[in-house]
Amino acid sequence: LVFVIVGVALGVTLRHENDTFQETFISRCEKFKGSDCQKIWRAFEQAYVGRDPCNVPMEEYNPLVAAAPPQPACNRIMLWSKTKDVVHDFTEKRDCFGTLEDTLLGSVLDDLTWCGKEGSSETFTTGCPGWTDCEKNPVRSFWYRASAAFADAACGDVTAMLNGSISTPFYPTSIFGSIEVKRLNSTRVKSLNVVLVTEQNEVANCTNASLKDLQKELDKGIKYNCKEVEKSQIEECASDPQKPCGACW
Ligand code: NAD
Repeated sequence: LVFVIVGVALGVTLRHENDTFQETFISRCEKFKGSDCQKIWRAFEQAYVGRDPCNVPMEEYNPLVAAAPPQPACNRIMLWSKTKDVVHDFTEKRDCFGTLEDTLLGSVLDDLTWCGKEGSSETFTTGCPGWTDCEKNPVRSFWYRASAAFADAACGDVTAMLNGSISTPFYPTSIFGSIEVKRLNSTRVKSLNVVLVTEQNEVANCTNASLKDLQKELDKGIKYNCKEVEKSQIEECASDPQKPCGACW
């Protein structure tokens, strides 16, 4: 009897895990009017369900990206690396820029963890590999694929917020460094404008060696600019709806 009770309890917990994740996915998706969220869910699930959670290559998300392609507005694209909090504090308060997390896929999956298991048709949210446990885990592969699609769709003047409180604001192995920068195409993108977010203890400025590496990676024909901006100034501008976006920095 004890085994039956434990078994049922475990079954209920797993069912619950699976259902809540899907509910979160669908309800976040439905905020994007006119999207077929059931179809997008099925395209998402097929990428990792029933698979070894350390063997989900980014290409598995191709059908998902095809079902919900990111459509960023020209001149408003905001990329970031090691500045997640300050970027999203700004974009939540001001309607100036759009990040990947403002597109359907990015907003649906931000801060979520998921994986499948061989021989199972469930989605798990616990016991999944962490970001660095294995390279081809479902969460990491998703962000690689979605970031690639976002950068492919970029156009006009692109902005990137990088962290001036670390010694290498441009990290070649980050997603920004290894995927996004490399995929900006000069036939569509006019310029890349780095906003280097500094605090009192400024560690890096625009002359930082890593930013020279960034410029080398850029497609010829894309103009490059860099500006050091204090974090407090970004926060103030975020809270001042009167100030035009172009005057924030
Ligand atoms: P980054 O190094 O700041 O990493 C971005 C996010 O990836 C982190 O906030 C974290 O959620 C996850 N991450 C990265 N390394 C991790 C680790 N060692 N352990 C646990 N989690 C880790 O910046 P990046 O790699 O240059 O990626 C940022 C760019 O890529 C952005 O432009 C964005 O469009 C996209 N992106 C977004 C997310 C997200 O969670 N919303 C995740 C990855 C990439």
